[in-house]
Amino acid sequence: MKSKMTDIKTGYFGKFPPGTSLLPLLWLLICLSGCDQPPTEHAFTFKTMGTVASCKLMLPQDLKPGEVEDIVQGSFSDVNTALSTWLPDSEISRLSRAAADSAVAVSELMRTCLQKSQQLNTQSGGAFDPTAESLMRLWGFYRRQGRLPAQAALDSALADLGRWRLEDNPVRVIKEKQGTRFDLGGIAKGLAVDLAATRLREAGVHHGLIDLGGNLYCLGGAQGRDDWRVGIRNPLNRDELFATVTVSEASVATSGSYERFVMIDGRRYGHIMNPATGRPAEGLLSATVIASEGILADGLSTTLFVLGPEKAMVFLREYYSEVEAVLVYPGAEGAVDTVMATQRLRGRFSLLPGYEKQYQVIFAD
Ligand code: ADP
Ligand code: MG
Repeated sequence: MKSKMTDIKTGYFGKFPPGTSLLPLLWLLICLSGCDQPPTEHAFTFKTMGTVASCKLMLPQDLKPGEVEDIVQGSFSDVNTALSTWLPDSEISRLSRAAADSAVAVSELMRTCLQKSQQLNTQSGGAFDPTAESLMRLWGFYRRQGRLPAQAALDSALADLGRWRLEDNPVRVIKEKQGTRFDLGGIAKGLAVDLAATRLREAGVHHGLIDLGGNLYCLGGAQGRDDWRVGIRNPLNRDELFATVTVSEASVATSGSYERFVMIDGRRYGHIMNPATGRPAEGLLSATVIASEGILADGLSTTLFVLGPEKAMVFLREYYSEVEAVLVYPGAEGAVDTVMATQRLRGRFSLLPGYEKQYQVIFAD
């Protein structure tokens, strides 16, 4: 998105013979900049949804920084108010408390989220489960203090999973079991960036980056480019980026056990549950997904993390061949860790300098 100003300065100025009056050119420049002013960049950061949001947006001339901040904050707040497990009065918390065999009407935001969750749950054979709440609770994630559950407690939490269904006409959830409780933490942030991106586009913002705690939406491209170069966190040291991918009009989401964990007897347990075992998922260090929608990128990053290195790529090939992914997992004894990326990321994915020795990169066929 090069501005006309830049083109004229670099391409034209040097050709004028010495002594030529620059006044007409100056007028031309002023007129051009007045007629077609380049967007101005506005960057801002704020806390929301238990994490940090940062945005870098290119504003057209008629939009004020405060207006776009309100759009983004309003979008995140709408999703949080409806879907946060941490707010006792949110729609999702009320659904979690609903009695067995009750029918609960749901809002449009909640329907979108539950429908996608249900679809991912079915396709993944239960790896993604919006009712993993009972497991999260049991392992101590809500109290932020881990404890190793007894087998009987695990069995009882597992029996609470999935006893609900979404009905279409009228739109409502039928909860079959009182103990089935919801946690949309694996997908709601993706929905939130989608909502912000849609509202920003409607307001005339077509280039920018929205980052909600590692769930990104990339509108258009960076200044002078038609895409964004986005960093991926090093799962072995979350303060560093270890690789980049180029992305445009798409969302990028990463799930990793390094993001949130509890310590039990000196061991770290990550916050993504494997409903097949009732224990925190193991196998991958991180799963990054690039998809056209945030809700899909977020939901899929959690799903792939649970599925693990062997099943994740097979699952993508079967259901989401248009989606890109980068999986990081430990190497075999003595070998460096592995980064497996989908084939179409060739040329778009690269390790940052210094990480070639730490990771071997392979592209899935
Ligand atoms: P982050 O919250 O770091 O962005 P994820 O998108 O991977 O990471 O979501 C992890 C969250 O998803 C957990 O904190 C929990 O709220 C929820 N969750 C845990 N296990 C599952 C699961 N098997 N399926 C769906 N959601 C899950
Ligand atoms: Mg997720």
